[in-house]
Amino acid sequence: MEKEPLLMLPGPVPVPERVRLAMARQAINHRSAEFGAVYADCVRCLKPAFGTENDLVIISGSGTAGMEAAVANFGRTRKIACLVNGKFGERLYDISKRYGEPMLLKSEWGTPLPLDDLAASLEAGAEVVTLVHNETSTGIRNPAHEVGKLCRKHDALFIMDGVTSIGGDVVEADRWGVDVAIVGSQKCLAAPAGLAVVSLSDRAMERIADQRPYYLDLAAYRKNAAKDPMETPYTPAVPLFFALREAGLLIEEEGIEHRIMRHQRLAQSVRAAAEAWGLPLFPTTDALHGYSNTVTAIRMPEETTDSDLRGLVKRLGVVIAGGQDHLKGKIFRIGHMGAVGAPEVLATLGAIQAAMGRLGCEHSGDGVAAAAAHLA
Ligand SMILES: *Cc1c(COP(=O)(O)O)cnc(C)c1O
Repeated sequence: MEKEPLLMLPGPVPVPERVRLAMARQAINHRSAEFGAVYADCVRCLKPAFGTENDLVIISGSGTAGMEAAVANFGRTRKIACLVNGKFGERLYDISKRYGEPMLLKSEWGTPLPLDDLAASLEAGAEVVTLVHNETSTGIRNPAHEVGKLCRKHDALFIMDGVTSIGGDVVEADRWGVDVAIVGSQKCLAAPAGLAVVSLSDRAMERIADQRPYYLDLAAYRKNAAKDPMETPYTPAVPLFFALREAGLLIEEEGIEHRIMRHQRLAQSVRAAAEAWGLPLFPTTDALHGYSNTVTAIRMPEETTDSDLRGLVKRLGVVIAGGQDHLKGKIFRIGHMGAVGAPEVLATLGAIQAAMGRLGCEHSGDGVAAAAAHLA
């Protein structure tokens, strides 16, 4: 029997059976008490993962739809300071070019952000700031709390991509002063791809642009979500809402603190394996920037290539990610987010270690054993 591969990507991630089965239901009217209750459950279960009391709205579209909605509704014709140290930071900058006047505040991918430049941009009149909290392309965690403080000091709106932190790492949107936070369903939430959840502060809504997109008009989303029963402006992807509710209930049952601790332990175990192998982690961290809790980026061993290593790991039944853009061939990335635990992580590390051995990579120690020491 051909077994389905284990997806250890930074999204999409394996979806628990309970979540998958929720999609097999008969269609329902999306203007009904039944749908409204599903939407309400999603919101209730996800608010703790955002660390917010603000309203959440759900868009039928991937994480990028949420990013575009945020910039288009709050950044239009405004000066937007875009903090960029990886692929998804670049994406927010590219979106900002379509709608506003972006100022690029950039550092090398995977290195600490230029926060001094942010202070200067805010002095120079930036009204909106974009940040990727957990930069999936490089495995660095950016200092959302510090960025939030600067935004508040200068009364700027803070848009935070939390696509691979919300549901897997500590996010305190309200305490940090995040006005708009975004998550995608197929990452730490362990739901199928296709929904974006966006939190909206009152401060943001007071400043929403007059000229807004039609399909992604967040004022319309918020107005419809405030109805009883809750609604979306247009027909939503109802089966995905069924799935997201089930994924949300799983988060609620586990408890967000426990879920974050589970992710922390998995991240520590993967870093311990890399250390035992003598392979450096890709990001450069400092007092404010840390290693991601949900994805680990490791330098490719010199003795092999991306296609050989990931190809052999794939034949062993595990799918891991390579580097994106200029990091292709230089790093590989292991996603350890969502519903996975010790068995999945140990299988992944075992496959990588076996592949490296067969490909003639010198690695000093036993990464699997080093990881296991963190898991039990
Ligand atoms: C995956 C991801 C996104 C969204 O990508 P989609 O393919 O549109 O879901 C945005 N930001 C980060 C940090 C991501 O990891």
